[in-house]
Amino acid sequence: MSTSPIVLHIDNVSKTFAGLLALSNVNLDIREGETHAIIGPNGAGKSTLLNVCIGGLEPSRGKVLLAGTELTGRRPHEINQLGVARVFQTPEIFGDLTVIENVMMAILSHRDGAFRPRFVTRFDQQSDIGRTAGAALEKLGLGDHLHHIAGALSRGDKRRLELVMSVVQEPKLLLLDEPTAGMARADTNATIEILRQFKDAGMTIVIIEHDMHVVFSLADRITVLAGGRVIAQGLPEDIKGNPKVVEAYLGEEQV
Ligand code: ADP
Ligand code: MG
Repeated sequence: MSTSPIVLHIDNVSKTFAGLLALSNVNLDIREGETHAIIGPNGAGKSTLLNVCIGGLEPSRGKVLLAGTELTGRRPHEINQLGVARVFQTPEIFGDLTVIENVMMAILSHRDGAFRPRFVTRFDQQSDIGRTAGAALEKLGLGDHLHHIAGALSRGDKRRLELVMSVVQEPKLLLLDEPTAGMARADTNATIEILRQFKDAGMTIVIIEHDMHVVFSLADRITVLAGGRVIAQGLPEDIKGNPKVVEAYLGEEQV
């Protein structure tokens, strides 16, 4: 894996918010096929780093490249079209559309570029897009819910739906910010299983995660942020029990 091509290159990124240094000279390479966890105490800069990667925030310094293409300065939908899919803490689905319609929308918005909700008709469901959406939902365990209203799904199933919506975009890179936050153990475990399927299919994944069970179940490598800086990086066994990491977490949870 250390010789796999670099998918995401984060080059000396800093970000200040009104004088507060949220990220300070962060360097990070994500290699094809790896699952890379970013961990660190609250306020470490994890979400800021992800936001810089998806075009939600401009870095104050430095740049981000996706397979050699500079992402810095691009709009979020453009970055999505280039192959970056994201799943954040709060499910972002269309609550009043059905499950399959949500997935069709994800395919269409990726294909069309600009995020333009389009009218999805029954006819579309017989189309290639409809078949692709249905097959992906079946595969990830939502086959019984195709025509249910998405807003009525359980929290765990909403997350599952979002993961289907990301995978149908066949992203070069999937970014997740605390995908199991607030979940019951059963839903967390189901999320781990889905991400493991993605991983086994060769997807490149960056996951910010608080739950160490999730981190150590999935991560090939781990980067630890504290106070906006990378304080440790390496294999899970190198991070576990690393004194710098343990110190950064003092007063929080155990690593
Ligand atoms: P994490 O996700 O690791 O908990 P964040 O990236 O959310 O940390 O935040 C890092 C720091 O930047 C925190 O001190 C936070 O208060 C600050 N911060 C984040 N977003 C903003 C913003 N939009 N405006 C001002 N300060 C922010
Ligand atoms: Mg965060």
